[in-house]
Amino acid sequence: MSHNAESTAFRSALEVIRAVEPRVADAIGAELTDQRESLKLIASENYASPATLLAMGNWFSDKYAEGTVGRRFYAGCQNVDTVEALAAEHARELFGAAHAYVQPHSGIDANLVAFWAVLADRVESPALKKAQVRQVNDLSEADWFALRRELGNQRMLGMSLDAGGHLTHGFRPNISGKMFDQRSYGTDPATGLIDYDRVAEAAREFKPLILVGGYSAYPRKVNFRILREIADSVGATFMVDMAHFAGLVAGKVFTGDFDPVPHAHIVTTTTHKSLRGPRGGMVLCQPELADQVDRGCPMVLGGPLPHVMAAKAVALAEARRPDFADYAQRIVDNAQALAEGLLRRGAKLVTGGTDNHLVLIDVSGYGLTGRQAEQALLDSGIVTNRNSVPQDPNGAWYTSGIRIGTPALTTRGLGTAEMDQTAELIHTVLTQTTAGANADGTPSKAKYTLDADLADKIARQATDLLAPYPLYPAIDLA
Ligand SMILES: *Cc1c(COP(=O)(O)O)cnc(C)c1O
Repeated sequence: MSHNAESTAFRSALEVIRAVEPRVADAIGAELTDQRESLKLIASENYASPATLLAMGNWFSDKYAEGTVGRRFYAGCQNVDTVEALAAEHARELFGAAHAYVQPHSGIDANLVAFWAVLADRVESPALKKAQVRQVNDLSEADWFALRRELGNQRMLGMSLDAGGHLTHGFRPNISGKMFDQRSYGTDPATGLIDYDRVAEAAREFKPLILVGGYSAYPRKVNFRILREIADSVGATFMVDMAHFAGLVAGKVFTGDFDPVPHAHIVTTTTHKSLRGPRGGMVLCQPELADQVDRGCPMVLGGPLPHVMAAKAVALAEARRPDFADYAQRIVDNAQALAEGLLRRGAKLVTGGTDNHLVLIDVSGYGLTGRQAEQALLDSGIVTNRNSVPQDPNGAWYTSGIRIGTPALTTRGLGTAEMDQTAELIHTVLTQTTAGANADGTPSKAKYTLDADLADKIARQATDLLAPYPLYPAIDLA
C-alpha cells in the first residue's frame, strides 16, 4: 500500500470536517501532534493502525443493528452481519475460543455482559425454578422481583484494587459492587505475588458464584489453570478479564497455564489496550454461555456500533498475522528492559520486576507519592499514571506507585536500548523531585518541587528518544 494513501485519506477527511467545524479538524490535527511528541508510557494505551482507524469513520455508524448476526430487530443489516461475523470469526480463531461476542462498547460493558450471562445462567433461583422458565423475560412480576433480590445477593471473589484488580470486579464505584457481595484476594506482602493457597482458602470460606482473574496493575503472569481448579473446587464460574494483556494472549506470549481462554468459562477484554484495536470490548465464552452472552444488547448494552465492529474485524485480522506475535514479544522484552534499567539505578519495583507489559514503581523509595511523581514526570514530557501499590499507605487518590507500560512505545518501534534510556530519564526526574510541605509545615502529598530547567531538558531528551520512531510515519497532514 502506498504511504500516500494514508496521508491522502486523513488529509481529505480533515478537509471535509474543516468545512463544517474547523475547530474540530484543528483539535484532531493537534491530537496527532501531541501524541507524536509525548513519551507515552500509559500501560492501557496504544496506537491503532490507520486501517483500523479508517474503518471507524464511515456510514456504518448510521446503522441500527440490535440483535445478532442473521437475527436482527432492524432491516437492512446484511453488511453489518458481514463485519460482525468477520470480527467474531477472527476473535475465535485468534484466541481459540468457542464463541465470541464483539458488540460491547468498552471493557466495562463487556464485564456487565459477562456478569449478566453468568447470573442468568447460574443462579439457582427459586424464582426461576418455580416459574419453570429460563428466559427472564417470561417471568411474572412477582417472580421477577424475587429474582432481582437474589441476583443482588450473589458473591464474587476477585483481586483487590491495591493488588492490581479492577473497579469492575465488584467494587463500589462500579455497579458490580452493588450487584455482588464482593470479597478480594490480595498478594503476598513479602513477594507481591498472588498466593494461590490463600485464594483457595478464601474461595472455600466465601463460596463465590464467580471467581474473577485478571488485573489492571499486576506486573506478573497469572496461572489460570490453578485459578480454574480453585473455581471448580467450590462450584464457581471462572471469569477472566484480560483487558490489559489480551495482546500478549493473542501474540502467544501467554500460553498453556497462562492463557486464560482454555481455562475460563468466560473471558472479557478491551480491544484497544495491548490488543491494539479500536476502543471497544469483547466477550469470549464456552458454548453453554453463548446464548446468554448474545443477549448483551439490549440487556445491558446500547445498540451495537457497526463502525467499531468493522474496525475490530480489521484489528483482529492484523493480530492474526505473524508479525503481531513478534510485536507482543517485544512488548514484554521492552517492559523487562525498562524494569532492569530502573532496578539497576536503584528504583523499588512491586514484585521486583515484570513478566508482562507493565512495571509498577513504588515511588516511596524516592520519598514521593504517586501523585507527585506522576506530575513531575508529566512536567518532563513523560506520560504515566499513578497507581496504588499493595497495602498502599497513601490510599487510592495520592497513591505510592507509578504504573508504566510498553505497548504504545513498542508500536512506535522503540526497543530495549531506548527502554534503558527511558529508565534513566524517569530515575533522574524522580531523584531530582522533592516532596513539598503544607502551609502548617506537615508533608504534602501533592506539592513537589522540580527544577524547571531540568524538566525542560528531560522533555527534550524524551523527544530526541522518539525522533527516530515517528508515530504514523506515513501520515503527513501538513
Ligand atoms: C481497562 C479495563 C477495563 C475497562 O475498560 P474500558 O474500555 O475503559 O471500559 C476493565 N477491566 C480491566 C481489567 C481493565 O484494565
